[in-house]
Amino acid sequence: MRLFVALPLDETMRDALCRAMEDLRAAGVRGRFSHRENLHLTLAFLGETPRLAQACRAVAGVEAPAFDLRLETFGLFRRQEGSILWAGLTPSAPLLALQRQVAGRLADAGFVLENRPFSPHLTLARQAQLPGGRLPGAVQLPRLSARADRVVLFESTRQNGRLVYLPRQTRTLAQPLEGTP
Ligand code: ATP
Ligand code: MG
Repeated sequence: MRLFVALPLDETMRDALCRAMEDLRAAGVRGRFSHRENLHLTLAFLGETPRLAQACRAVAGVEAPAFDLRLETFGLFRRQEGSILWAGLTPSAPLLALQRQVAGRLADAGFVLENRPFSPHLTLARQAQLPGGRLPGAVQLPRLSARADRVVLFESTRQNGRLVYLPRQTRTLAQPLEGTP
């Protein structure tokens, strides 16, 4: 099975991203846009593996406080096979620490992960084609912060030809005490 670990997004963040995708479409961007229910922030990609139980254990043991994700700006990974258009997130200290912890726990459990630097992004479109080859300057992301309160191990699969992510293990992040940021 194909596994990855991600932060699901709350409804306000999904609303903002769906609006951004509509604005991009209206500005002439074409591509394979993400489905609302599939929007997520990937922390670690395990790829094909039969070791579900070990991956579940690694995720179940995560210890971290809930924190806020903050939208930054659009970005592009330019690829031969078609660009990926994404919404960037602020690489805040709690987010980077959580990603390091997740990757470390998976590595300790014997999973081999890519070691390219973590670049927190939400994929909005694949095989994106941009008018004039560049991001439309008029389309902006809103200033938005939204709570990240759980880490999920997902199985990525297809059902009736449609890409779906099935939650296999969920770890709730601790609520910080009142009065702490
Ligand atoms: P599709 O591949 O069908 O376009 P997808 O990329 O969303 O859809 P997966 O390929 O199963 O589905 O990937 C699941 C998650 O892991 C996505 O967030 C994807 O961006 C990320 N991912 C996939 N391959 C890698 C990789 N080689 N390195 C890092 N992250 C990856
Ligand atoms: Mg993929």
